[in-house]
Amino acid sequence: MPNKLISPEQTEFQLKSTLWLFTAAGSLILPFALYDISQGKWQIGLGALIIAFALFLGSWCCYKKTYKPIYTFLLLSPFSTFFLLYLTNTVGISGTYWCYPTILLFYFVISERQAWISNIVLIVCILPLAWNLLEANEAARFTVTLILVSAYAAIFLRVITQLYDARCRQANTDPLTRLYNRASLQDSLTQAIHQADRTGTAFTLIGMDIDFFKQINDELGHDVGDNVLVQLGAFLKGYFRESDKVFRTGGEEFLILICNSNEAESAEIAEKMRKDIENLSIIPDRTVTVSIGVSGIGVEKDWQVWMKTCDQNLYKAKHNGRNRVVVGSV
Ligand code: GH3
Ligand code: MG
Ligand code: MG
Repeated sequence: MPNKLISPEQTEFQLKSTLWLFTAAGSLILPFALYDISQGKWQIGLGALIIAFALFLGSWCCYKKTYKPIYTFLLLSPFSTFFLLYLTNTVGISGTYWCYPTILLFYFVISERQAWISNIVLIVCILPLAWNLLEANEAARFTVTLILVSAYAAIFLRVITQLYDARCRQANTDPLTRLYNRASLQDSLTQAIHQADRTGTAFTLIGMDIDFFKQINDELGHDVGDNVLVQLGAFLKGYFRESDKVFRTGGEEFLILICNSNEAESAEIAEKMRKDIENLSIIPDRTVTVSIGVSGIGVEKDWQVWMKTCDQNLYKAKHNGRNRVVVGSV
């Protein structure tokens, strides 16, 4: 794949699972926090209350789709580690019980690397304390079970992440050309419009359709037609930068979302690409040409209008004789 794409379903899945994990953890900790406060154990009660509050805040952010794992990693994770150390030091072995759900939670609510760092810090800090406070027999059991729980969670997370990434990639990829398919188009264009609005980055769409492709199929066979699509797909993948996205939007139609390039610059790129494609020898003794439409985001800032304008330009290029570029936005 030319660049990494996080599908909307993937983000949705992570947000939903994080929301419910935070809610469950916060709801379970809250009664303990209130009980400790009622018993006059102020430090432990308040510490647990702060953690419960942070967990509910995390749930709320997930619900609002504004959750940022980095804040959990930088604030909640060190605070929880510090609190667990204090708890273990104060109440002994029953304090260590909380290490297990904490380790599991880290793996599911922050990034994998952040969870590794948080868990290593927690284990490295808590084990010497446990060995100091507990009987050797208990401390040894605590060490082994804690490391096992952490290892199981790490392995489980790795496997499901790999499977999930593969599924998402499959859902967003055209099997013939390995380019992005239409599935992620709306999301990519909407994201580009938001980014352009926020940061002023220029984005342009280049729409492309192979000329007289039906003739290639009819005269040389469907397999040759397929091979043209594969070769053109590979050419496009290599032609653009990592930050650009190349889609196969239909039978012999391609779309390129170019980042950091305004309409005039993209028109030059498209014109050069048109000539380069014409000079490729995809099929021996036959020239394959493409018609191209180029369009900037336009004033309406609507992904469907943007695509439609690009399509209209492509249609004009066809109408005006094919093998040419038409540029413009509304
Ligand atoms: P124009 O210059 O106006 O674009 O003419 P065209 O012949 O390229 O356009 P048309 O839309 O008439 O034909 C597109 C053809 O693409 C029709 C269809 O059989 C073929 N096609 C669609 N998907 C595939 C595919 O996956 N493999 C192959 N080999 N052909 C495909
Ligand atoms: Mg065509
Ligand atoms: Mg077509």
